[in-house]
Amino acid sequence: MKTFDMLAFDADDTLWHSEDGFHASEQRFVELVAPFAAEGVDVKAALTAVERKNLPVFGYGVKAFGLSAVEAALSISEGRVTTHVLGQLMEMVRAQLTEPVRLLPHVPEVLAKVGRHYRMVLITKGDLIHQTHKVETSGLAHHFSDIEILLEKDPHTYDRIFRKLGVAPGRVCMVGNSVRSDILPVMALGGTAVHVPYPLLWELEHVDHDEHFADLESITDLPGWLGIEG
Ligand SMILES: [Mg+2]
Repeated sequence: MKTFDMLAFDADDTLWHSEDGFHASEQRFVELVAPFAAEGVDVKAALTAVERKNLPVFGYGVKAFGLSAVEAALSISEGRVTTHVLGQLMEMVRAQLTEPVRLLPHVPEVLAKVGRHYRMVLITKGDLIHQTHKVETSGLAHHFSDIEILLEKDPHTYDRIFRKLGVAPGRVCMVGNSVRSDILPVMALGGTAVHVPYPLLWELEHVDHDEHFADLESITDLPGWLGIEG
């Protein structure tokens, strides 16, 4: 069995669905706002540009997305978007914030199996209240010794968290769906990372790299990769 002092798990799109909700909201945004856009405007690209611009100020998560959606609707329509459409955008955001957590297949069994052999922590980023609510209602919190909700997932932040948890970065294995946020920063600290891709990836999470790391088809392959028998 592989030896690590700690396994760290990402949450969104690693343990439960998230990006499919954003994807559906983006589609809905395009449907609602396209009728107010000038011809030839790529409504979806304009929304992403507003999100990119706002990221340092709004941070990650559904509320940040919602504010950017309203701003983008106003700017794309040059102020002609109706209050009815703005109301529908707000409803869309509220629905995304309040929908129950949808776990990815076999996640509870895998965590139970792996947790018999390793200390496990959850490291997620985004909106504090939404992430806290998802963790609390997921039924998964008891698997983790610690739960960390971060503003950003970069080497500096991981280093600070690993030190706080009393673990050397080189003794950590991180499991997550985002190469940019879960894999590269942990490898930069000398840790190990396991990539478990989700079918959808947010445009602002795309990254070019030439690093090599374990790439699993599904989280159900994790116990085998770790060398856990049975
Ligand atoms: Mg993720």
